[in-house]
Amino acid sequence: MRNIAMLGVGYVGLVSGTGLADFGNRVICVDIDEEKIRKLKNDILPIYEPGLLELIQKNVHQGRMVFTTDLAKSIQDSEVIFLALPTPSGEKGEVDLSYVFSAIDTIAEVIKGFKVIVTKSTVAVGTGDRIRERLISKGVAEEMFDVVSNPEFLREGSAVGDFMRPDRVVIGTRSEKALEIMKEIYRSLYLIETPIVATDIRTAEMIKYASNAFLATKISFINEVANICERVGADVQQVAKAMGLDGRISNKFLHAGPGYGGSCFPKDTLALTKIAEGAGMRATIVESVIAVNHQQKLRVVEKLTQLLPDLRDKVIGILGLAFKPNTDDVRDAPALTVIDEILKRGGKIQGYDPEAMEEMRKHFPQIRYMTSAYEVAAGADALILLTEWNQFRGLNLDEIRNLMKQPILIDTRNIYDPETVMDKGFRFDCIGRKIVNRS
Ligand code: NAD
Repeated sequence: MRNIAMLGVGYVGLVSGTGLADFGNRVICVDIDEEKIRKLKNDILPIYEPGLLELIQKNVHQGRMVFTTDLAKSIQDSEVIFLALPTPSGEKGEVDLSYVFSAIDTIAEVIKGFKVIVTKSTVAVGTGDRIRERLISKGVAEEMFDVVSNPEFLREGSAVGDFMRPDRVVIGTRSEKALEIMKEIYRSLYLIETPIVATDIRTAEMIKYASNAFLATKISFINEVANICERVGADVQQVAKAMGLDGRISNKFLHAGPGYGGSCFPKDTLALTKIAEGAGMRATIVESVIAVNHQQKLRVVEKLTQLLPDLRDKVIGILGLAFKPNTDDVRDAPALTVIDEILKRGGKIQGYDPEAMEEMRKHFPQIRYMTSAYEVAAGADALILLTEWNQFRGLNLDEIRNLMKQPILIDTRNIYDPETVMDKGFRFDCIGRKIVNRS
């Protein structure tokens, strides 16, 4: 069992740090955000992630996990340093590695004993080599460190389960010593026969981009199929179900909807196109995936204006702001584009999300934040369901209709049966089915 410093306690760092502590390692979770660390020390979770607080409390209580803002000491006290730092899109869509390199510079300043430096952040292919060169250029001897790429595949909303029972663990390194240390850290998973894929660093870095781009491709693909279904009178729900029964295709990530969002797919697909560009080629499939996704978000507003052509001074209710259920994350959420477009057309927004309102308020302080779906419906000219939170699945549609100014519902997650909704007097639309409204 090893002494680990987890740099960054965001969605990935906090879950990974907790998981590694639960595997028996001693983990110092460190962040430059004093507020986050203060909350964690007081048993408050700075993000919404089901099941995480209980696991943190257990590991803190059993003495395997601490929180601090002292970066230098955390580095000195640990043998393995995980970087779970932000890698946002840069100005041209390339990966912004400034957080990673700033942490590497701190490591270079304080390093005394041997360290394994592990990138858990999603980083451009070649970053591991750049980290090595940077440390050497700052006077750190080569034998003082090894670099490992250990990309993370967890999904927000089910992150704890994903980390504790992953489909595979990818470890990219040139060093046998580092590989052994990493296997020891993940020993609990090894015991339950989780596949460990050992590769070189660049291959590990690429695996993460290829995986995310493939999943994003599935989503854009089914959204494109959905749009064709609408025009030719087929039902994308049934198409996707039948496709998914084919083991070669699988039913995962085949849900037509308002386009993918979140902190990973948008920035990672874009980054992959830039990585390809840097290597002198174009990633044409990935470029199309991005374009289809952008169009799909706008398509939601197009559907709205088909039912309600003039949005000026109309009140549009938005159900769900997070990019998916069970998270408070609104990064690149379809709601951002949809709300922006409606505001541009002169509409007014009232919205509700069980967890993401605080985050959305940072982007749109001017819209009205309500406390339930029914409050959102009250006085609305149209409702758009954007996130399939469980509590939106069984709404009392009679009550919703009676509260609304005009009964228009757009279900971008296909959770309502069109006939049932229209029987209740709504004008309706969804994704991937040809809807013939009755008036
Ligand atoms: P995040 O923004 O939620 O968390 C990053 C944290 O790092 C923040 O708390 C920030 O304060 C902290 N930080 C910044 N600079 C620091 C420094 N020098 N020292 C210590 N802490 C510092 O980001 P995230 O969603 O956890 O993503 C982290 C990385 O993991 C990204 O590369 C992302 O692409 C990747 N990833 C994310 C997910 C996901 O679902 N969110 C999944 C897989 C991979």
